[in-house]
Amino acid sequence: MTHLHLDSIVKRYDSFTALKGVSLEVKRGEFLCFLGPSGCGKTTLLRVIAGLDPQSEGRVTLDGRDVSRQPPSARNYGIVFQSYALFPNLTVAKNVAYGLKLDRAATKARVDELLALVGLPESGPKYPGQLSGGQQQRVALARALAPSPGLLLLDEPLSALDARVRGHLRQQIKDLHRRLGITTIMVTHDQEEALTMADRIVVMNHGVIDQVGTPDEIYRHPATPFVADFVGAMNFLPGIAGEDGVVHVGDARLHSNSDLAPGAAVTVCLRPEDVVARHQNGANRIEATIEALEFIGPFHRARLHAPELGSHRLTADFSANLVRDLDLVIGGRLPVMLPRERLRVFPV
Ligand code: ATP
Repeated sequence: MTHLHLDSIVKRYDSFTALKGVSLEVKRGEFLCFLGPSGCGKTTLLRVIAGLDPQSEGRVTLDGRDVSRQPPSARNYGIVFQSYALFPNLTVAKNVAYGLKLDRAATKARVDELLALVGLPESGPKYPGQLSGGQQQRVALARALAPSPGLLLLDEPLSALDARVRGHLRQQIKDLHRRLGITTIMVTHDQEEALTMADRIVVMNHGVIDQVGTPDEIYRHPATPFVADFVGAMNFLPGIAGEDGVVHVGDARLHSNSDLAPGAAVTVCLRPEDVVARHQNGANRIEATIEALEFIGPFHRARLHAPELGSHRLTADFSANLVRDLDLVIGGRLPVMLPRERLRVFPV
């Protein structure tokens, strides 16, 4: 079941430690995304797996084989870079054939098969310069997949493309993964890309893994304030833990499922879409005024001033129907409820 195992990987560049003891199990056939901000170490980790940049400490095991000190050629993977990295002076067909060690007829058949697979059946005789960015990246994918590797490594493969092409290629890569079932690891700093493509997301922060989980787990149950902040929009309210899960934020007493010791300084997190309007009575009800109301497209984003919460403003997302039904306008009063089960409380 385990395809790749990383055990306590440390990577140092002189006095700078880019990876600080990363351990991870990758299951056979899964689509994993390394997600994090620039400089968190995700590309370094991919390069360690690829053997392009050996780790300073720790072990890489592939298919039960310790490949920690093995060269890239002994690791049986295909890799795609952000910059396509095609040979400009070779035709598309020769680029795809590059890593193949087959006779002429078999090579041609394999190249045709791969070009059809990535939706470019006619482009074999062309040169990379005659293709668009999205097409070049599909050729790079075909080249990576041609020798039937066990593992596909993708280093920000979509970042250089414009939004429309990116969306299209995102789907193509997912379709390919579904069809081929190849274990795939993709580096991205784009949360939407990770949420839509990954079976599991590995969120990295300053050379460590903050959380590994399905997109839903990462979004609904962020393990740290960093993950909460990096993936999706989030309200952060500073407070103090009280008795029985109560958290004091400004003058408000919010009921939560926190079990932190009374007196602890905390941050209370709540997604904007989890703020409930149209709620009359009960716990966690707050009086607010609408300070700003932006039309975002699928919803409206409101900035709420609730004096009870102190100086912090609350961001809330409301559907167009709700805005119309409640006649929400800037300056209007709006009681809201902060649902207990949606509040995430972290110690600070
Ligand atoms: P990005 O999306 O910007 O590429 P990343 O998360 O992939 O970010 P890495 O490229 O893995 O980040 O780099 C992690 C850290 O290691 C960075 O601080 C970077 O400056 C440092 N680093 C990477 N390669 C080297 C190198 N060859 N020499 C020195 N420092 C390096």
